[in-house]
Amino acid sequence: KPIVLLGGGAREHALAWKLTRDGATVHVLPGNAGIPNSHPEIGILDFPAIKGFCEARGAKLVVVGPEAPLAAGVTDFFAGSDIRVFGPGRAGATLESSKVWSKNFMRRHGVATALSWQFRSDKLDEARAKAAELNGQVVVKFDGLAAGKGVYVCSSVEEANTALDDLEAHHSGWFSFLLEEKLSGPEISIIGVTDGNRVRLLAPSQDHKQLLAGDQGPNTGGMGAYCPVPFADDNILAAIRTEIIDPTLEGIQTEQFEFKGFLYFGIMLTPQGPKLLEYNVRLGDPEAEVLLPALESSLLELIEATLDGTLARCVVRQRPGYYAGVVLASGGYPASGFSTGFPITGLDQLHPTILAFHGATKRTETGELLTNGGRVLVLVGHGMELEDAVQHVYREAKNVNFQDVYMRTDIGQRPEPTRIF
Ligand code: ATP
Repeated sequence: KPIVLLGGGAREHALAWKLTRDGATVHVLPGNAGIPNSHPEIGILDFPAIKGFCEARGAKLVVVGPEAPLAAGVTDFFAGSDIRVFGPGRAGATLESSKVWSKNFMRRHGVATALSWQFRSDKLDEARAKAAELNGQVVVKFDGLAAGKGVYVCSSVEEANTALDDLEAHHSGWFSFLLEEKLSGPEISIIGVTDGNRVRLLAPSQDHKQLLAGDQGPNTGGMGAYCPVPFADDNILAAIRTEIIDPTLEGIQTEQFEFKGFLYFGIMLTPQGPKLLEYNVRLGDPEAEVLLPALESSLLELIEATLDGTLARCVVRQRPGYYAGVVLASGGYPASGFSTGFPITGLDQLHPTILAFHGATKRTETGELLTNGGRVLVLVGHGMELEDAVQHVYREAKNVNFQDVYMRTDIGQRPEPTRIF
């Protein structure tokens, strides 16, 4: 069965790997040097070209990796044709693309989340006053796509003021933003496949967004992830269901927007219970790279059942044990101006049970593999205990090399929280 997959990072490599194991022939647009059947000539926002490609190959299903094509309306573009898209339409994608809209949705439907106040750019003084009232314990969130520069977690009035100055300096014209109460607690990612009525959850996972060990330094696209999360017990998952997932699905039904795709809940487990920080309308990256190897069930069947309206019949089975994924990044990332184009060595010496998903790689005409961006590779190891998975992947990661390679050394090793709620 030919399928078209949109995207070109390690998440899409993991998706292509899984869907191929499930029996599909996967064409990846644009893909990358590590993904078989990549087609670099077609861009993910060129919907007519994607349609032409599907028709030429007889593909009736498009699976979307990143958010951009969803926010740009790829699902709406194909609506009414015989090509089905796994991913929400433009309205559903707003759950991710607008933080203000998404916060109002959570409010309308009683989804547990942080208190928040919405401002427009001409009301910065009011925002400063509110931040001072809250002793600077606030999170400032720009409403819209901000290339990772839109969220400021503050611990003092000075920090809050600096964040608001920064917002003003970086964005011209009218814009909206949120001030949120600052919450504390461990974070967890819950990702499901949903048809808007039902959801089937993948394993709970945790990512590691910051660049440096101990969750220090600047935010990145993600430096590693693991699943499942040992402390996410049945009580915690039940609270997440009733306070976040169920009201979200009721909201989607009430507001009647089509949502068939992955839905990601970024959650903080606070002493007052789970609170939703954000929705994403796609698989997380690097969460996907551990969740898909951990999924024993056929993803292809889950996707088809979602589109056919038969998700109720599906049961999701997970493989036993734990999966840990470590990102090998270019030195200097995530700041701009770091160098790429360095030869990558050692991939052929990896233990056969290690998975190596390519993020930013390219091949020369002679077939040499080179670095081609910030997050170059994601290596994934398995073990019956989380510690085994972590040790396994780090032992092997030493074999892979390129100039200025950088990885975090503490993926999957956060101290376990003592009491959550
Ligand atoms: P992503 O890259 O995951 O999509 P984002 O830039 O869209 O992130 P959020 O997920 O809303 O933004 O926030 C990023 C991070 O900021 C969260 O993972 C969390 O660590 C922190 N954060 C967000 N909201 C709060 C809050 N209310 N209290 C404390 N920390 C928060």
